[in-house]
Amino acid sequence: MATDNVDEIIQCPACGKDMVKVYFPQQGVNLDICLNGCGGIYFDNRELEKFDESHEDITPLQKLFENKEFKKVDTSEKRICPVCGWTMVKHFGSAKKEIEIDECYGCGGKFLDYSELEKFRAQYNTEEERAKDVIKNLYDTAGIVLNLQDEEYEQRMKHKNLYANLVINKPINKLFKQDKYNF
Ligand SMILES: [Zn+2]
Ligand SMILES: [Zn+2]
Repeated sequence: MATDNVDEIIQCPACGKDMVKVYFPQQGVNLDICLNGCGGIYFDNRELEKFDESHEDITPLQKLFENKEFKKVDTSEKRICPVCGWTMVKHFGSAKKEIEIDECYGCGGKFLDYSELEKFRAQYNTEEERAKDVIKNLYDTAGIVLNLQDEEYEQRMKHKNLYANLVINKPINKLFKQDKYNF
């Protein structure tokens, strides 16, 4: 069982500054926020899903971010998980493939750069919509594969016919060329 680092100050995986623990009463969780650096947010395992829909309250966060300037960071850089030290993996956080999040496959932690959470939340209204899009995406991908298979099958059938014609015609051509059929 992973320990919940409730009191431990962690360093921002993007800019190295100490992150600040902020309590969110609606969700009942503490988030680590890079308030004195880049504005990035670190979510422990499964915390992000409590914040990723537009109806979930993030007022405390918006208040903290109000009129604040944050340090720009290179979002393409590899990040190291501040909790367990694994290299975080970049992937699109949803089927829409618009926002790349850093995820730690060691502890399940996720890091979102400044303003990414708001963009992430704007994608879907409910968890159901998000899940539906994943299914639709899978279906679309599977559909492409199926179409390719259909095409390949058609091509093969065409070739098969061509091949069949060649096989049938060749001996006949040959036969006609043979002396005994010399017209
Ligand atoms: Zn930072
Ligand atoms: Zn980790």
